[in-house]
Amino acid sequence: MNRLPSVDRLSRSPELEKFSPRTRVAAARAAIDEFRSAGGPAPGPEDLVRLALELAEGLANPLVRPAVNLSGVVLHTGLGRARLAPEAAAQVAMAAARSVTVEIDPETGGRGDRQEAVRGLLVELTGAEDAIVVNNCAAAVHLVLRSLTAQRGVALSRGQMVEIGGSFRMPDIVRDSGCALVEVGCTNRTSLDDYREALESGCSVVLRCHRSNFTMTGFVGEPSAKETAELAHSYGALTIDDLGSGCLVDTTRYGLPKERTLHEAVSDGADVVMGSGDKLLGGPQAGLIVGRRDLLRQVRTHPLARAFRIDKLCLAGLEATLRMYAEGRESDVPLWRSLARSLAAVKRDARRLADAFPGRAVVGQGTTELGGGSFPGAGVPTWRAGLESRSAVSLLAALRNSRPAVIGRIEKDLVWLDPRPAEAEDIQEAVAVLRRLDPELL
Ligand SMILES: *Cc1c(COP(=O)(O)O)cnc(C)c1O
Repeated sequence: MNRLPSVDRLSRSPELEKFSPRTRVAAARAAIDEFRSAGGPAPGPEDLVRLALELAEGLANPLVRPAVNLSGVVLHTGLGRARLAPEAAAQVAMAAARSVTVEIDPETGGRGDRQEAVRGLLVELTGAEDAIVVNNCAAAVHLVLRSLTAQRGVALSRGQMVEIGGSFRMPDIVRDSGCALVEVGCTNRTSLDDYREALESGCSVVLRCHRSNFTMTGFVGEPSAKETAELAHSYGALTIDDLGSGCLVDTTRYGLPKERTLHEAVSDGADVVMGSGDKLLGGPQAGLIVGRRDLLRQVRTHPLARAFRIDKLCLAGLEATLRMYAEGRESDVPLWRSLARSLAAVKRDARRLADAFPGRAVVGQGTTELGGGSFPGAGVPTWRAGLESRSAVSLLAALRNSRPAVIGRIEKDLVWLDPRPAEAEDIQEAVAVLRRLDPELL
């Protein structure tokens, strides 16, 4: 009977020569462990080397790899949400590879404020007095509540006690901020009188939270943000509005339902508004905080502001993206460009994908969703390629494990590829992956 070789001997096999010592040893150890835990007779040397080689190929590659998003969800959180415009990506690459003037005051040469790069742009685009950016919107919500609401009564409608995802639950975060949460109204209906009652009983903050990831229909209702803000102000209370998506454009122009913009939230009277950088803004991960100057001063000087500080890469990408909006070039932001593509152009790409598949494929209509906690249940029409195979699960996995990863979705036993969010180069890459598919899968 064969005996398993030592890790050291296997790691020195000539077949593994091209890998680093670290990868060779890790792959050899994993290969030996795999055969050992399988029990059974020891494998021949070639089998062991073949497995070690396969494992080394996997280990040598970064886990963050390029992917082609044909999933039908534009802002796919699993795929990193928004992709940046080339000019914003270039700024990120520049900031990554070089020293950059994030905190150098150009006048004095002394220590500046990294927020300056985006503050002016956000003030211009939202009409707010002041702006701060942090790591992401979850951090923005934490920071704003911690710095402005501690020891105060905070009114939140029961219809807005949402879970955004993971362990981010609005009522928990409010309580965690050291304030007293006052639940207002009912899940389906909250009235202005409900808010009035909370304000009469001593609440000095009205918090609003966008229902980003679900819809409510039927016997539902709540006062508008403007009515709520007017009421709160008549009691000398603050209004804080967690918008979720930091949208800056009129979404109805893209055939989507109306989404309140940061600008509208500010002009509706909210004292502080929070939004995400990588949802409907189409920028890098970031949390935007805009609002009254006196309040933002308090936010800026809270110790948590340092913990949530935005890094230079995101800052560079966000500045470039905001600049595109300020210059009236939103149509160059990949998110909006993909939604503006004509159905005929999308259909041509769907046909190219279907034609590249070595088996039977159809082209059919579907809906591209926005994702990233925006427009639950809504989307824009698209054309997709539907691939038939022996096993849709195996085909989906083979595409996912190709280089680049091609991400589709299964519906009714077909693997569907939606080209709407993809750029021309993505389609070319996906076509090449489809042509190389193992015929065994078909
Ligand atoms: C998405 C979302 C958040 C969290 O935003 P991130 O940028 O993902 O941290 C917070 N609040 C609402 C209402 C959201 O939709």
